[in-house]
Amino acid sequence: MDYGKRDLVLAGELILPDRTLPHAQVICRDGAIVEITADPQHAGRAGARGRIEGRYIAPGFIDLHVHGGGGADYMDGSADTVRVANRVHARHGTTTIFPTTTTGSPQEIAGMLEACGNVRDEWSIGDGARIGGVHYYGPYFAGDKVGCHSREGRRDPDAAEYEHVLAGGLVRIATCAAELPGAGEFYRAAREHQCLVTCGHSDSTWAEMARAYEAGVRHVDHFWCAMSSVPSIRKRCGTPMQGSMEQFVLAHEEMSTEVIADACHLAPELLNFAFRMKGARRLCLVTDANRAVDMPPGRYVFGPASTGTPFESDGKVGFVPGQGLASSVKGMDHMVRTMIAAGAASLPDAARIASLTPAERVGIAARTGSLEPGKRADVLVLSESLEVERVFIGGEEFRG
Ligand SMILES: [Zn+2]
Ligand SMILES: [Zn+2]
Repeated sequence: MDYGKRDLVLAGELILPDRTLPHAQVICRDGAIVEITADPQHAGRAGARGRIEGRYIAPGFIDLHVHGGGGADYMDGSADTVRVANRVHARHGTTTIFPTTTTGSPQEIAGMLEACGNVRDEWSIGDGARIGGVHYYGPYFAGDKVGCHSREGRRDPDAAEYEHVLAGGLVRIATCAAELPGAGEFYRAAREHQCLVTCGHSDSTWAEMARAYEAGVRHVDHFWCAMSSVPSIRKRCGTPMQGSMEQFVLAHEEMSTEVIADACHLAPELLNFAFRMKGARRLCLVTDANRAVDMPPGRYVFGPASTGTPFESDGKVGFVPGQGLASSVKGMDHMVRTMIAAGAASLPDAARIASLTPAERVGIAARTGSLEPGKRADVLVLSESLEVERVFIGGEEFRG
């Protein structure tokens, strides 16, 4: 292949889904990856638009579960705050993002969807991570599993509400607690709209999960956080002890899940266990980050600025004093480094579960998620210590 002046060449050790490829390069043209080659001299000779060298060249990250950053929560409901959060996450290597609702009023959720839709439709490189769709997460949580979400904003699935939301086409991931009345209808409607259908903030039993699976559920939100366990089901249903979401996910190969690998929510052995049990094709990294990402320690609000839950950030994690954690304050690059530091995944596997695996689960892997010819040029240059040095989205450099 000959290289033109408009080509972008990124050279270094490529992080592919199943291995790394040292002394190689990614050639990008017109916003897409056109070639992967192990011949680093070739393009340099041809005078490409830019030949950029780095220690590692990685696919852009994809975050399926994220609430905000830089002081902004997606539920604040304005296009400006959506862009603030998307820029923060792009700096941490996320190139495709799925802004995630919290519990909230129908008006608050409608405002979030409208703001995210506008930002997606008018996207330019200065806006940061591209919106792949919205994760419709709150409000259909179990009453005793709302976590740090406001209890007032929780409700049972309401067909009039969710049919309208799903018909908008922006929602690509849809969560509901399986034990709620109407959960099955919600799952079926979400599946019809080609969403990744997921169960979360739930105390559901194995039997409820089995019905949910029939209705289309294939994923469970943040494993071990705000979900059922054998002891929680024993408390709810007595004996004989029954299986919970945990056993159901581990026993069903088709079920995927996600971990918040910020080193605060889960100990290294649980990150290790989750990867060993589910493997690189069924485990995703998510940030589940709140508005305190890249902000100083202090007091913030989780969810809508006016009606959300106050929490504190110590710069490492969000928490509600006396109650528990309130989601992460870190970007995706941190999650990848934590998986590797925990000995839970190799470099290619840790990158895969932050890029290709989430892309596959939401059905966008033909367009992005790995360094492969034909895909969008969503590419990162990483340092030896896996810090994000440069970010390219559709072949354009994000410099925000
Ligand atoms: Zn949650
Ligand atoms: Zn969350």
